[in-house]
Amino acid sequence: MTGDAPIAETAEARAVPVSLCAGTDTFVFDLDDTLYPRGVGLHAQMLSRVIQFIQQLTGWEAADAAALHARYYADYGTSLVGLTRHHGVRPQDFLAFVHDIDLSGLAANDELKAALSALPGRRLVFTNGSAAHAERVLGRLGIADQFEAVCDIAACAYVGKPERAAYDTLLARHNVAPRRAIMFDDRAVNLAVPHGLGMQTVLIGGHGLPEAGDAAHVHFRAETLAPVLAQIVAGASVRPAACPVRFPLHEELDPCTLD
Ligand SMILES: [Mg+2]
Repeated sequence: MTGDAPIAETAEARAVPVSLCAGTDTFVFDLDDTLYPRGVGLHAQMLSRVIQFIQQLTGWEAADAAALHARYYADYGTSLVGLTRHHGVRPQDFLAFVHDIDLSGLAANDELKAALSALPGRRLVFTNGSAAHAERVLGRLGIADQFEAVCDIAACAYVGKPERAAYDTLLARHNVAPRRAIMFDDRAVNLAVPHGLGMQTVLIGGHGLPEAGDAAHVHFRAETLAPVLAQIVAGASVRPAACPVRFPLHEELDPCTLD
């Protein structure tokens, strides 16, 4: 949820358009900081709530609580896992507390809605947050009706991305064929398993983990989502029968042909 440092953007990464492998029919989206930009302030609110939760749990000062959160975030991908494993926290209690934030900074996004609706396939939300939080956020953005389903952290038995089991749950519950799917997430580490499964991957935003931002499992990078989706739609309409994927960072790899 936090602790990420900026990744340096490259002109090369921006210059190559995102395009789809032939047959792609499933579009998987992370929720927070992917379907809306981090700049709207929800991330900062949720981070504050996480630290408050840990302070109430431990009686520690804020700096120590923040350090514990950062450690669990680095070790497990989410502080929720550390708090449930080592402190006996009920995940439902943690999520309800952390998601109790002001969403007034989120406005309906007509550009995003149009871009989502034009995609040549179904859309899924895959989040380490709760379904209730996703419902609120999608409602504020005016895009709730654009998704077939939300695969939330509860569906994944409260062990979410980047753990392999979470992706297995997504694939099984929603009949996702990895080689016909593309995933968008603001954390590079969350794209490693999808790449290994054969999915195409797009890193959204510029705040992923620096050691993973240039990794081979990041096929494409973009600052914001809606223009990328419009670009995908345009490309799909031009070359629907070919596999036009090229890699801005790793052109020697091709998800359409990887075994
Ligand atoms: Mg996210």
